[in-house]
Amino acid sequence: MNTQSIKARDDAHVLHTYGRSPVALVSGKGMVATDAEGKQYLDFTSGIGVNCLGYCHPAWVAAVTAQAGTLQHTSNLYYTEPCGALAEELCRRTGLDAVFFGNSGAEANEGAIKAARKYSVDTYGSDRNKMLTLVNSFHGRTLATLTATGQEVFHHDFGPFPERFGYIPAGDFAALQAAADAETCAVLLELVQGEGGVVALDKDYVAQVAAFCKERDILLLVDEVQTGVGRTGTFLACEQYDLHPDIVTLAKGLGGGLPIGAVVMTKKVADHMGPGSHGSTFGGNPVVCAGALAVMEQLTPELLAHARKMAETLRTGLQTLPHVTAVSGLGLMVGIAFEDGISAAAVRTACEQQGLLVLTAKTRLRLLPPLILTQEDVDKALAILRTVLEKV
Ligand SMILES: *Cc1c(COP(=O)(O)O)cnc(C)c1O
Repeated sequence: MNTQSIKARDDAHVLHTYGRSPVALVSGKGMVATDAEGKQYLDFTSGIGVNCLGYCHPAWVAAVTAQAGTLQHTSNLYYTEPCGALAEELCRRTGLDAVFFGNSGAEANEGAIKAARKYSVDTYGSDRNKMLTLVNSFHGRTLATLTATGQEVFHHDFGPFPERFGYIPAGDFAALQAAADAETCAVLLELVQGEGGVVALDKDYVAQVAAFCKERDILLLVDEVQTGVGRTGTFLACEQYDLHPDIVTLAKGLGGGLPIGAVVMTKKVADHMGPGSHGSTFGGNPVVCAGALAVMEQLTPELLAHARKMAETLRTGLQTLPHVTAVSGLGLMVGIAFEDGISAAAVRTACEQQGLLVLTAKTRLRLLPPLILTQEDVDKALAILRTVLEKV
C-alpha cells in the first residue's frame, strides 16, 4: 500500500482524535524510520519518548520474540518470571519498594492517585483525599488524569469530572502553602513539564515542596512518564533534584515500544494496596515486561553518560541556530523557543519534508531523540534545522 491508500483507509475507519502528518511509516531501524514510498526520516521523536533504544534494537527484539514464543500471557492470577524481575530492577534503580504494572502513563497516574488516597484515607480519615497538581501539567486522558491535568482546555465536554483536585502555579511555593490544608493527601507534579512546553521546575522550589509535604505527611507523587528511563540523562529526573518521592510513575520509555505503565512506591504506601484494591488484565504481561527488562539492561551508566554528552552537544548546537531564543528542558528532553512570528508547527512540517521528524509542545519545538543517537545524528539534525530556519 502507498501512503495515500494507507491514509485514506485509516481516515475512513479510525476516530479523528489526532492531528496527523500525511506520513505512513512502514519500518524502522535505529534512528531511521522509512515510509511507504521508501523515504527515510531521521527520528528525533522516539514515538513521543517511547523508543528510547531507537527502532527495533536487536536486544529488545530478541527478548520480546523469545518471550512471545515461550509464554505470552497468563493473567495476574499466576506468577511469571519477567514481571518480578522487572519490578525488582525498578525498585533497585529507584530506591522504592514495590511496583504495580498497568499499560500506559495515564493508567500509572490513576494508580498513583488511588494509592495516595488509599494511604491517606486509611491513615487520617475519609475526608483527607484532596489532590494538588500544577498549572500547565499533563497527566493523561482518562477522567481522573484529565482532571489532574492543570490545563483549563482539558476540563470541558466530558464532565462531570472527579472532585477534590486543586491547581497551583509551578514555581510558586506560597501558592502551595495557601492551597494545602488538613484534607490534602498528595501533590502530583512533573519535574519537566513535557506537553506543557518542556519547562523544568526550579530546584529550590522542588526542595521546598518536598520538605513541606514531608512535614505534613502529604504524599509527593512524581509523574516521570516522560522524564523517566534516562530521558533527562539519569534513570529518574528525581536524581537530579535529589528528590525521594513517595510514588513515581513511569511509562513511555520503559517498554521500549510496547505498552506499559508502572506505579513505583514506598512500602508505607504499598502496604495499603491489598488484594482487590487495584488490578489490570494486561498489567505485568510477560512479553511487555521482557521487553522492558531488555531496556533496563541496555540502560547502563555508559549509555546514560552517552545520552548526557549527546544532550550537551545538541543543546550547544541548537543555541547557534537562527531565530532560536531559548533551549529548555533537561537532557534529551529538549524544548526550542523561537522569536515571535515563527511557528513551531510550520518548522516541524518543514523538517518533516527535509527528512527529520520532530515534535511541538505549545509554542515550542520539542525533541525527544532515542538515547542511542550519535554525534553524526546530532550534526545531521542541526543541519536540517538550520536549513529550515534560514528560510522561515
Ligand atoms: C504522555 C504522558 C502521560 C500519558 O501517558 P499515556 O501513555 O498517553 O497515557 C502522562 N504524563 C506525562 C508526563 C506524559 O508525558
